Amino acid sequence: IPGELCCFESIDSTNEEAKRRGEAGAPDGSIYVADNQTNGKGRRGRTWLSPSGEDIFFTILLRPDLPLNSVSMLTLVAASAVAEAVDKVTGQECQIKWPNDIVLNRKKVCGILTEMNMEIDSIAYVVVGVGINVNRMEFREDIAETATSLKKESGHSIERAELLSEILSAFFRDYKLFLEKQDLSPFLESYNQKLVNVGREVKIIKKGEEIIRTAIGINDRGELIVQDAEGNTEHIFSGEVSVRGI
Ligand code: ATP
Repeated sequence: IPGELCCFESIDSTNEEAKRRGEAGAPDGSIYVADNQTNGKGRRGRTWLSPSGEDIFFTILLRPDLPLNSVSMLTLVAASAVAEAVDKVTGQECQIKWPNDIVLNRKKVCGILTEMNMEIDSIAYVVVGVGINVNRMEFREDIAETATSLKKESGHSIERAELLSEILSAFFRDYKLFLEKQDLSPFLESYNQKLVNVGREVKIIKKGEEIIRTAIGINDRGELIVQDAEGNTEHIFSGEVSVRGI
């Protein structure tokens, strides 16, 4: 790990901790890990349920030299590193729900939340937060149908430290490559191969409006390529939409 490593039994949110540390000058590549989050976050103010002490929540603090419009691609770099590690420790083949979730048997096992802080027109720091349902067997009623854990799907307990170390080594390897290329071309084939949305209808919710399209794959900017019934293609940028249907 290039930066500092801090572990917490319980914390409000590892992303919030990383931002506080980021403000205080913590170095690039720092990791904040927690057993429990009391205020875990999803996208657009949603909640990431983090109750058990059996799962993993961590945030990577980065200070990349990137243009602002490339930051969202870090979510996809992280998703592909997590997916690789999940496959390795579970012996199963997980899939990626563009842009920020990992699913096993079409149920969500992991969410990724990337946030950034700017300094005039450059990046001060980026935080990439990852929450994984590792060994939890019970889920709150409202997510019981859509969520699962690595243990539930693989039938065996997962050593959390081993999973974390697999993810971090895959992530820092890929992060380096991504900074060199400044696009997702090195990961495109494996990411698209794992993309759960491919060939399926997705409902795209953009500014409250819903459109139905067929997903084709992602491009090297991390945008989702979709097609309408006439075969016209469109590139969907993750910042502006929510995609439903897996
Ligand atoms: P959508 O799929 O609606 O676009 P999203 O993938 O952006 O959402 P996030 O904002 O990343 O979802 O995650 C928050 C949502 O995930 C919550 O609204 C809830 O439905 C679900 N969720 C919350 N906690 C968990 C969990 N521990 N495991 C699986 N799903 C969860």
